[in-house]
Amino acid sequence: MRYTYRLRPGRAAEAALLAEWGRCRWLWNEAIHQQKSGSKPTFAKLSRLLTEARGKLPWLREGSQVAQQQCLRGYMQSLDHSFTVKGRGRPRIKARKKSLPSLEYTTRGFGISDGRLRLPKGVTVPVVWSRELPSAPTSVRVYRDCLGHWYASFVVRRDIHQPSPRGEGGVGIDWGVTTTATASDPAFDLPYLGHRKRCAAELARAQRKMARRHRKTTTQSRGYAYAKRQAARLAKKAMRQTRHDSRVWAKRVVAAHDLIAVEDFTPVFLSKSTMARKSADAAIGTAKRELIEQATRAGRKVVMIRPAYTTMTCSQCFARAKRLELHERVFRCDSCGFSDCRDRNAARVILATAERGRTSVEDVRQTDRPPSGVGVVAV
Ligand SMILES: [Zn+2]
Repeated sequence: MRYTYRLRPGRAAEAALLAEWGRCRWLWNEAIHQQKSGSKPTFAKLSRLLTEARGKLPWLREGSQVAQQQCLRGYMQSLDHSFTVKGRGRPRIKARKKSLPSLEYTTRGFGISDGRLRLPKGVTVPVVWSRELPSAPTSVRVYRDCLGHWYASFVVRRDIHQPSPRGEGGVGIDWGVTTTATASDPAFDLPYLGHRKRCAAELARAQRKMARRHRKTTTQSRGYAYAKRQAARLAKKAMRQTRHDSRVWAKRVVAAHDLIAVEDFTPVFLSKSTMARKSADAAIGTAKRELIEQATRAGRKVVMIRPAYTTMTCSQCFARAKRLELHERVFRCDSCGFSDCRDRNAARVILATAERGRTSVEDVRQTDRPPSGVGVVAV
């Protein structure tokens, strides 16, 4: 897993890091050129070209070989993913003004001494050690975020502290906008946090300032850059608060349950609806990611349930009700008379589906239906 720390590079170190990033960026773009011109690059081929180029170009030799090789490795990985992972595009050109610096070093490329991160070519950067590293890191990624802050993210091994006490039973999670996550047990709901809504006025003020200072010419003033940074800082703060709260919630859910059934929900359609702003703020994606990560880390069983029919099915008898409109908040079953809050019912359906070892509600209906003609009386 990764442990991330803030870096405080001095002026010289920052310049060195940016120069290193410039060289790596050039290599990345060169690799894209290789791919586009039809010579199918492999990592071995690219490494050979890198060695040749380092022989010829003194400015490239000034950089660290480890960082440059890792950059090409990263390129090959994203090229592979563009063929194998659905929806992933080909690696794109990294433009100077649009891409954020990110450098990767393996064990032979970095060291830690006197509390400083030592990188090749005599670059040392002070690290803010906010917590102990659990073990010796095997690699590090040095990167800068959109606010201009530098971070080092170490890859370390960590033992599971204690075999976490087994939780009891399972929990079903249904995602929504008014309540971000509705659990089958009301004690484990995640309410809508609304961190972005709370700082909306402040954010609007920063954005107005940006608009006022915006120039139609190509270069922007320092005042504009300052206002832009302020707006970005607010957005980031809201994002961090949401992530923190989701993480705390996910830990609590995972600690208490053995089986975690999650609605496999992609919030794409919500972002296109009239609830777009609120759904973005609800940050379902963040909560879902945190929950799955915490659960797999604790060794719990995670089942992803297809969202189709979860709201229309009765959690008691698995009968299909008529389609519910969005404003109808209460579910009523016509066959058994069961009635519950719409989202709670959906969460229970999700849990019941997972407990039967299925991943879609339709499967359960198909298998649970008694075979035709064997004493079935229509009611
Ligand atoms: Zn029913």
